[in-house]
Amino acid sequence: MPATKAFAAADAKSPLGPFGFARRDPGPTEINIDILYCGVCHSDLHMARNEWGQTSYPLVPGHEIVGRVASTGSAVSKFKVGDIAAVGVIVDSCRHCEPCGRGEEHFCDEGSTLTYNAKDRVDGTTTMGGYSSNYVVDERFAHTVPSNLSLPAVAPLLCAGITTYSPLRHWNVGPGMKVGIVGLGGLGHMGLKFAHSFGAHTVQLTTSPKKKDDAIKLGADEVLVSTDAEAMKKHAKSFDFILDTASAPHALEPYLQLLKLDATMCLVGLPEKPPALSAFSLITKRVSIAGSMIGGMIETQQMLDYCGQHNITSEVEVIPIQQINEAFERMLKQDVKYRFVIDMSSLK
Ligand code: NAP
Ligand code: ZN
Ligand code: ZN
Repeated sequence: MPATKAFAAADAKSPLGPFGFARRDPGPTEINIDILYCGVCHSDLHMARNEWGQTSYPLVPGHEIVGRVASTGSAVSKFKVGDIAAVGVIVDSCRHCEPCGRGEEHFCDEGSTLTYNAKDRVDGTTTMGGYSSNYVVDERFAHTVPSNLSLPAVAPLLCAGITTYSPLRHWNVGPGMKVGIVGLGGLGHMGLKFAHSFGAHTVQLTTSPKKKDDAIKLGADEVLVSTDAEAMKKHAKSFDFILDTASAPHALEPYLQLLKLDATMCLVGLPEKPPALSAFSLITKRVSIAGSMIGGMIETQQMLDYCGQHNITSEVEVIPIQQINEAFERMLKQDVKYRFVIDMSSLK
């Protein structure tokens, strides 16, 4: 196997820089993908800077991968050389527990294997992500891509897409419901597109008044600036469901006030610090706070197929890998429209 070129973080403080390593040859059920595009998720930044306290270095981030199959193992049936394949946040699981049996490998009882910064179940090495020239993965954890979609704009579907699609489906978001999406970033803009596409009355909540026009263009029926207490008050007790994608620590109370009796607020954003929460804001309307993590392999393929049928993709700014450190800084300033995607040909 030729050497893999990549960009890695050497520690929590240094910028990402060029890095080389070797991937194994694909096993019988594995494919080797030449990566074309990789999205830049806020989790990549949290992890590169060790904000969750679990990073091992060197770290090659990247879990929104789209590429072309370069070689296949002898037993591979889903892909042939030259096909487009996509990989998301997990690349393996135990495959025999109850959640795995249901196709919910991300909830594997033994823990799923993350695309980077995890112990590889096959060879015990640390997984290295998609800010790299190729990836070797079992075909069960790779997806086909509808041929009508633009590949750079597909990459973010593999994390931002499925992470918002899955909870919106789980809580049956659809016509007759008023749904809020907190944060217009990579996840948020996909949540907005899906909630709108599923037929809900969709309200984009944002801390950035300048994003109002974009939110409407992307499908919002209304935009609510969450720092405007008066405007928030007008929407009190009116939401059926809220999906919170915010990446930075924030109070939950202002959003909980918006919920109707028995409604749910689902957290998918993973700020560095946990939120403070008063039980009073739950008991007075019997509301629920829930959480959701990416989606299983079956649902991820369903999401991609749905996107193909409804022509849904991410809004992307394509960058060469040499601009990744600047992209991280811009993401922190909430200055991305609405997902950076790395053109991996820039690695050559
Ligand atoms: P992103 O592109 O940086 O977007 C985050 C958005 O959060 C910002 O654009 C901003 O939107 C909003 N925000 C920032 N600070 C805020 C604050 N103090 N209060 C309210 N809103 C705030 O990040 P992303 O890639 O979408 O990721 C979002 C979060 O989800 C990250 O923490 C990431 O690690 C996590 N994540 C979780 C899963 C999962 O499986 N659960 C999967 C992927 C990512 P406005 O400018 O509109 O306010
Ligand atoms: Zn992600
Ligand atoms: Zn399992």
